[in-house]
Amino acid sequence: MIKAIRGTRDILPPGSNEWQKVEDLSRRVFRLFGYSEIRTPIIEETALFVKSVGEETDIVKKEMFSFVDRGERDISLRPEGTAPIVRAYLENNLDKTDPFQKLYYIGPMFRAERPQAGRLRQFHQIGLEAIGSNSPALDAEVINVLIRLLETNGIKKYELKLNNLGCREDKKKLSKTLKEVFSEKTVSARLCEDCKRRVATNPLRLLDCKEEGCRLVIREHFKNVEFLCSDCKEHFAEVLKFIDLLKIPYSVDPYIVRGLDYYTRTVFEVTHKDLGAQNAIGAGGRYDNLISDMGGPSLGACGFALGVDRMIMALGKDAETVKAAAGIDLFVATIGKEAYSKAFLLLNELRGAGVSCDIDYELRSLKSQMRSADKQAARFVMIIGDDEVAKSEAVLRDMKTREQTNIRFPDLVNSIKGKIC
Ligand SMILES: [Zn+2]
Ligand SMILES: [Zn+2]
Repeated sequence: MIKAIRGTRDILPPGSNEWQKVEDLSRRVFRLFGYSEIRTPIIEETALFVKSVGEETDIVKKEMFSFVDRGERDISLRPEGTAPIVRAYLENNLDKTDPFQKLYYIGPMFRAERPQAGRLRQFHQIGLEAIGSNSPALDAEVINVLIRLLETNGIKKYELKLNNLGCREDKKKLSKTLKEVFSEKTVSARLCEDCKRRVATNPLRLLDCKEEGCRLVIREHFKNVEFLCSDCKEHFAEVLKFIDLLKIPYSVDPYIVRGLDYYTRTVFEVTHKDLGAQNAIGAGGRYDNLISDMGGPSLGACGFALGVDRMIMALGKDAETVKAAAGIDLFVATIGKEAYSKAFLLLNELRGAGVSCDIDYELRSLKSQMRSADKQAARFVMIIGDDEVAKSEAVLRDMKTREQTNIRFPDLVNSIKGKIC
């Protein structure tokens, strides 16, 4: 039998109801803050990610699903949302017609990581990009949207960490210092193999190595390194001022760098206490050079992405809770052929009036129909037999209180609508 590709998975009901809920609530939050949806293709030219995310990053070096198509083009499944959105922004001339854009997206991303708990090769992100402003108020707003999304979805035990990477010149200065300090033989000898390579290729990534040995060396040698210019210091102080104003709890962590080259100034990460080793639930930051690097004007921008798979994990709802929340309003159980035809018609009326309802298709016993009603977490069950059809009424059972009432067919739609509202 053919199975799903390793690192991918099916999202089945009732779990898919939980996904829809997260997506619906998130769309509502985005609208509150004035963000509009953008949908970009799943596939892009490989060069887009090499140029923007960075040639020496883990994502581009070892995690992209890249292939050559029939027209000999180098194509990749998108590993992240920012680069495609900046491409779309420039390709559609938004920089000329309406340069300030607040955009959000919901969709799958792809990275060929080693499959392990909490890491999928097709994973889902909810994110936003605010393009066209350097204002520190925008950084604070973007972080505020992220926190509001978590709160609205009922996710509580999160932790927000911020850092200031500085502008491109500051980052260069920091890279140079790190290179000097960590290429010194006795220091370098204590680093992991990845970090030994990073010293030459991508020294910033030394700072967030998860290896315990590296963490120790780095904390010993990376202290009070001054690399920020006064503009960048001031910008970050303003960001913090706005976040304080909103009373969002956070800590500043100098070891947050993010694995993508385009970040400048404010970067942030949100982790969740219940997620184990892969505890990052969302992250983002400012990217003030990306638009000009990709051929556009010099414009500031800021964004984030939240992992939906991890949000669902953090919610940790069991199947029963999800099922109950996603239940139908009414299940119609029937006894006899005449009753079945009547019920089939009533169902159509009820659905037309906005009542979600269902019926058995196999003319099974009342007992097994009641089991179906349970399975669908029906709020009410209506029982119709041929006698009831003759009297033009039915028995309505409230599945919560177990109360039974008789209900006349002409009153049915209004009465049930009254009960479910
Ligand atoms: Zn600077
Ligand atoms: Zn390391």
